Amino acid sequence: MSLIVQKFGGTSVGTPERILSAARRAVAAKQAGHQVVMVCSARGKKTDELIDLANEITQNPQPREMDMLLSTGEQEAVALVAMAISTLGEQAISLTGEQIGIITDQTYTKARISQISTDRLKQELNAGRIVVACGFQGVSENGDITTLGRGGSDTTATALAAALDADECEIYTDVDGVYTTDPRIVPEARKVTRISYDEMLEMASLGAGVMHSRSIEFAKKFDVALRVRHALNENEGTLIAATGEELARSVTGMALVRDEVRVSLCDIPDRPGVMSLIFAKMAARKIPIDMVVQNVSANNKAEVSFTVPAGELAETLTAAQEAVGELGAGSVLSGTNLAKVSAVGLGMKSAPGVAARMFRKLADAGINIQMITTSDIKVSVLVDRNLCEQALRAVHQGFQLDSAKPAPELSVTKSKAAATARASEHEHLAEVVGRLSSMEDIVVSEVVLDDGQARITVHNVQDRPGISAELFEAVAEAAVSVDMIVQNVGRNSTTEVSFTVDAGDLDKGLAVVQKLQQRLPGSSVSHERDIALLTVSGIGLRTHTGVGERMFRALADAAINVKMVNTSEIRMSVVVARQQGAAALAALKKVFGLK
Ligand code: ASP
Ligand code: MG
Repeated sequence: MSLIVQKFGGTSVGTPERILSAARRAVAAKQAGHQVVMVCSARGKKTDELIDLANEITQNPQPREMDMLLSTGEQEAVALVAMAISTLGEQAISLTGEQIGIITDQTYTKARISQISTDRLKQELNAGRIVVACGFQGVSENGDITTLGRGGSDTTATALAAALDADECEIYTDVDGVYTTDPRIVPEARKVTRISYDEMLEMASLGAGVMHSRSIEFAKKFDVALRVRHALNENEGTLIAATGEELARSVTGMALVRDEVRVSLCDIPDRPGVMSLIFAKMAARKIPIDMVVQNVSANNKAEVSFTVPAGELAETLTAAQEAVGELGAGSVLSGTNLAKVSAVGLGMKSAPGVAARMFRKLADAGINIQMITTSDIKVSVLVDRNLCEQALRAVHQGFQLDSAKPAPELSVTKSKAAATARASEHEHLAEVVGRLSSMEDIVVSEVVLDDGQARITVHNVQDRPGISAELFEAVAEAAVSVDMIVQNVGRNSTTEVSFTVDAGDLDKGLAVVQKLQQRLPGSSVSHERDIALLTVSGIGLRTHTGVGERMFRALADAAINVKMVNTSEIRMSVVVARQQGAAALAALKKVFGLK
């Protein structure tokens, strides 16, 4: 018999009518022969109201009491839903997190699930009841009520689906599914039928706020098929699963983070341990950093830039000042009024020139790119905030994301092989997950060394629209395969662009760049023939701020200097000298407990 988990968010159980309509969904699924577990959020704005109420009493409510309070919102919802189901002639039982046995750690207001007992759930389901479970809450080992953080009901639903090995986890909400980008900004955005976990993780962390990243981490880890659907219509929604639509296109969707700020540590020493110190300072304050760019150093000085959410600026500056103080050299700069625009797609891996096309669309729209970072399934650029919507639209249009059947792309060729590779990656992941002691443990599944890479850098490039477009178009045209691209911020209105290529393509790449460089007054080109690229893959690497810290600590302890860095939700990459590649691989495998 199949088992379905159905999650209803706050608006979907906001009124008595909505409650009845949610109940009808569950009853219909039950009568179609499925076992059904519903997971409900608090009604409407209930959680916000409770928070406001607490704040009227005190500005510093004890976290334990806060969780006691907030958990009542869900308790109210499930009781009402269970009553509604009874009126429709089916049996239902509502259960709290504690009654189910959702065990969490003791971190009130943002607890992590360690374990879920399925005994009670199975007993009720086997007795023919629909179980209506409280989302968002659990219980600590000591028996205290905890909550999972705002929006945590998605996590509850996915975790229950994982624990029960459900056939599907349906997320009912007030949108039709996952869109290629935010339809409020780009009206022609299209709903995608299917998207992969990795793409969804990148999109969620990059500001496509359909679902909590954590619930997608769960889904990927435990291979739960998620379907995001509208609560008020019968549309099929979007399936989030191991593979998406990447066989058909190179870019699946675009995300925007409107409130980014950039922080740069300039003129700092270029030696092992520097990255480690910076990451440790940020991790200690749980600051999620993104778009990390490290310059190729000139005269033994390095410059590291990264972005953080605007709300974290003050904390980040303090942490950065501390780092500079401990390093004994350097200064801290920041840039505000910025936004991050990203294109995401598994299909990028096998379609060269995606970055070049994105840069071209931006250039044609007259938009200057202030920073670039890429991973194998994402290209992010930092632009002026006032231009960000225009940038999003230009790139969305450029990749024809509005069209269900885009014009065939030049060379999405290797996709079949990539799909096979992913299937084995998937099996490997299942094996690593099997060894976790707690459900939300961080998963680092793999470290890979590619010691056949080389770096090319163009220095002192004039900071104006179109430079990156020209550069990477020329490189793509020469069929040089580019791996990682980083562009740092401009100082004195110049900027620096670095990228890695297959070592065998270095001379070809250099020839292209040198030719182009003659047209860029004042610029110069440097390269490094012997570098190694190490990539750590896993789940939730950015939400677990300690991963970068451990990674850079391990490299520092092995006296390995980091030359370039790149981070994303699912991968962290570093470039080191080739002769240190093997030592770096060993150090990273050891720190993450991999064979
Ligand atoms: N009620 C909680 C919140 O508003 C949990 C949820 O809605 O997922 O954050
Ligand atoms: Mg909510």
